[in-house]
Order: sequence, then structure tokens, then C-alpha cells
Amino acid sequence: MDADTIQAIKGIAGEENCSTLVADLYTYGFDASIHHRSPEIVVQPRSTEQVSAIVRLANERRVPILARGGGTGLCGSAVPLEGGIVLDMTRMNRIKEIRVEDLYCVVEPGVIYDRLMDALAPFKFSIPTAPGSGEACTMGGMVATNASGMRAIKYGAIRDYVLGLEVVLASGKIIRVGTRTLKNSSGYQLERLFVGSEGTLGIITELTLRITPKAKKAAMIVAGFDTLERAGKCVSKIIAKPLIPSAIEIMDSTCIKAVNKTVKAGFPDVEALCMIEVDGEPAAVEEESKVVQGICNEVGAVSVEFSSDTKQMAKWTYGRKSIMSSLSRFGAGFVSVSLADDMAVPISRIPEAVVAFHKIAERNGVIVGTYGHAGDGNLHTKMLLDPTSEDYWQRGEKAVSEIFDTVIALGGTVTGEHGVGISKAPYFKRERPTAWETMIVIKQAMDPNNILNPGKIAQWEGSILCMLRYPCDKYSE
Ligand SMILES: Cc1cc2nc3c(=O)[nH]c(=O)nc-3n(C[C@H](O)[C@H](O)[C@H](O)COP(=O)(O)OP(=O)(O)OC[C@H]3O[C@@H](n4cnc5c(N)ncnc54)[C@H](O)[C@@H]3O)c2cc1C
Repeated sequence: MDADTIQAIKGIAGEENCSTLVADLYTYGFDASIHHRSPEIVVQPRSTEQVSAIVRLANERRVPILARGGGTGLCGSAVPLEGGIVLDMTRMNRIKEIRVEDLYCVVEPGVIYDRLMDALAPFKFSIPTAPGSGEACTMGGMVATNASGMRAIKYGAIRDYVLGLEVVLASGKIIRVGTRTLKNSSGYQLERLFVGSEGTLGIITELTLRITPKAKKAAMIVAGFDTLERAGKCVSKIIAKPLIPSAIEIMDSTCIKAVNKTVKAGFPDVEALCMIEVDGEPAAVEEESKVVQGICNEVGAVSVEFSSDTKQMAKWTYGRKSIMSSLSRFGAGFVSVSLADDMAVPISRIPEAVVAFHKIAERNGVIVGTYGHAGDGNLHTKMLLDPTSEDYWQRGEKAVSEIFDTVIALGGTVTGEHGVGISKAPYFKRERPTAWETMIVIKQAMDPNNILNPGKIAQWEGSILCMLRYPCDKYSE
């Protein structure tokens, strides 16, 4: 990027809101994925008008531009592949309106999920998608990746809460899509087009989101099993009852050992466990808890613990949320990397999927921890490997490819909630052989100069082993 463009950006956003310091550029080259690439300038815009003016300039001068929220994305969607401008949206963080009587709130994109939940709590309202990264991810980033979390089985993903958006298009034009009403049949549902678009179609500058009353009571059951398969069967049986809990999490023994060791989660030391949460009216919670415990026993659980104590439930939830960080501290010399990571299969295929993942890991000589929001079929795998070893990465990539082939064969998707970015792109094309070309057509129509987060999702070509953040000569940046 030339000095004149950098000066022009500083003129729009103010020198104090821009940085070209090497340390800042290096830091903003990361998200939580395996990839890294430094941008050429970082800008913290304060208003939609500033975003619009910077995007217009980027479009005129053909400079790549990427909107970034909390940088918690796990597939490289917030890594500026072609350098250029990173717009750090976290300073646009005002909660503009909370209208409980109309069931919506209006926020800027940089509002952190947990802060919005804190603001809604006094009204006894929430947006119950509950991502594991809630203390750091932004509402803009959540919509741009269609994030969800452990409660998606009952409460859906963030797309189910998007009523309207204000968006800056690639030309710099500001548009409003959707409404503030719960119902809307007025033409194309364009707000949905930006859900999951990962910053490739426009930059979200305001969100109108549906809110919902908080459940009055919750309880949890933690059931241990001697095989992962049996834990998977427990999930299917609960749902087929029919009973829709607010969460059903599954963990394998690698994950259980990791969180018990590093955060003293206090889970039973078993081959697999299911952590089931039910919520709602107190009487229903009591009844459903009993039904769930009965099913766990029927399926052959080796241990069943129940609690409705908020401290105990918070401890179990914290244990579950700490899996990713715990895995990294678990194996000496190995780190936990986001490979494969986020697939979803039809719920009844979970037992087959988890057994297949473990066989694939064994065959390729890699360690895989499997856990996830099993209630909605969304499984996570993390691989433990030596990130400096070319051989490890190659075996990891082979395992990823086999895992995704299995997922596709089971009728699933390569990403249930984290998005495509770079790390899923080749497999996403396998999964959507007829849809990705249509996505390219939409991208070309909306961003003809290809400035918005270029090279991602359907535009990605090549292997996922590139621009790695780790010091591995062959694949590093
Ligand atoms: C420990 C941990 C746990 C996680 N748990 C979950 C989970 O339970 N569920 C889940 O869904 N995800 C989870 N994630 C992944 C991640 O938190 C989500 O993808 C989240 O939605 C990303 O939000 P962010 O603000 O960090 O976005 P970023 O990572 O900054 O960006 C993600 C994408 O959104 C785009 N974007 C950001 N802001 C805007 C904007 N204003 N306009 C247009 N595009 C924008 C970026 O360009 C990028 O493509 C987890 C991650 C970690 C590290």
C-alpha cells in the first residue's frame, strides 16, 4: 500500500485510531486459527461514516480490506491473506437500544457477546446462543460466521436472531436490510445474505437482534460411559424420546483428562461423557432431569451425577469451555491446533462419526481430542501435534481430509459454527460441489474489485497447509 493511501486513511479515521507499528501489524495478523499474515495498516473506526469512507477509498485504490471483531475465529477468516487494511471494529461497541416490549435490541458490531448478555440480564432477557468464546467474540463477528454454541439444539444459531442490519458495501454505500419487526416478508431476506459471509460481501456496522426471555431454572446431568459410541447413543435416545434439552455436550477421554488436569473440572475419569442441561419452568426442569437420568442409566452409563446448584453447573460449564486451552497444556511438546475442528452430522450418526475419527487418528499417527455440541450433531476435533514438524502437519492434513470425507459421507457439513475461512475451504468445495460457484457469482456481483476479505471461502485455492503461524519452514508465512 502506498504512503499516500496510508495518509488518506489516517485523514479519515484520525491518526490516533490508526497504526502501522510492526508489533501491531504482526498482532493483527492472527486470529485463533493456524494461519497468520500481517496487514499493512490497522484502523479502529468509530462510526459507520468512517467505515464507509475507508471502504470507498479501498475500492478506488484496489486495496484489500478486512473487518475484524474479537479475532477469535478458528478457521483463518480474520487473517488478512493479502495484507492491506484491517478494520478493528471493537471500538464501535455501543448498545444503542434495548426494547424488551418489542423483543429486540440494536447494537454496534463491536459489542462483545457477554457484555450484551450482562446488559440484557436485568430485564431477564438474553440471546441464548452462548458461544464458548462469549467473553471475547463480537456480535458482528458472530453474525459474519453464523456462530452458535452449546444451546443451539433448543435455541438455534445467531442467524435466528438477526432481524436487521446496516451494512457498508464494497462501493462504500451504506444500506439497511431487514426490519425491526419480528415478521418481515418484504422481498429478498437480504440480512440473511450477510450471515456467514465472513466479511466478503460487506461490513456490518449495526445489528438489530431479536431477544428472548431467560429460562427460569436450569439443571445439569453429567453421565460417564465406557465407550464414546455409547455416549453418542445416549444423545440420540434423549432426542428421540422426544426431549429437547438446552444443551448436550460430549467429550472423549483425551478431553476429560486434559480439563481434569489443568482446570480441576472434577469430571469422572471415564472413556466418554455427556453433559446435559435442561431448562425452563421449574416443574418441567425437575421432570425432564429425571427422564434424562433414566435414559443415561438405560444406555449403560457408568456414573450419573445431577445438580441444579448454580456454582456446580458453572464449574462443569467452565470445564467444558476450557477444553481447547487445556489440550494445549496437556501433551508435553505438543500443541492443540484447530484442524478439522467443527463438523456437524445428523444427530443419529454421531456414534459412527466419533468412532471413525478415532480410527482415522490412529491410522495417521496423530492424537485427536473429540468433543462438541452433540445435541445438534456439531462435533469438534482438536489435534495435538508438534507444530515445528513437517511430517506431523502432513499426517494431520491427511487425517483432516479423511475426517471430512467421512462427515460428508454421513450427510454432514464440514463446519457447523466456525465458518470456512481458509482451514475448511478445500473441503467445503467437496461438500458443496454445486453451490460454491454460485457463491463466486454473488461475490463478483457485490464486490467486483475483490477488495473485501479476498481469497476466502469459495475463492480459496490450494492446501490448508500454508501461511502457518507456527515455525515450520515449509508451511510458515
Ligand atoms: C475458545 C474458543 C471457543 C469458541 N467457541 C465457539 C462456539 O461455541 N461457537 C461458535 O460459533 N464459535 C466459537 N468459536 C469461534 C469464534 O469465537 C466465532 O467464530 C466468533 O463468532 C468470531 O467472532 P469474532 O468477533 O472473534 O470475529 P473474528 O474472528 O474477528 O472474525 C470472524 C469473521 O467475521 C468477519 N467479521 C467480523 N466483524 C465483522 C463485521 N462487523 N462485518 C463483517 N464481517 C465481520 C471477519 O472478517 C471474519 O471473516 C470459538 C473460538 C474460541 C477461540
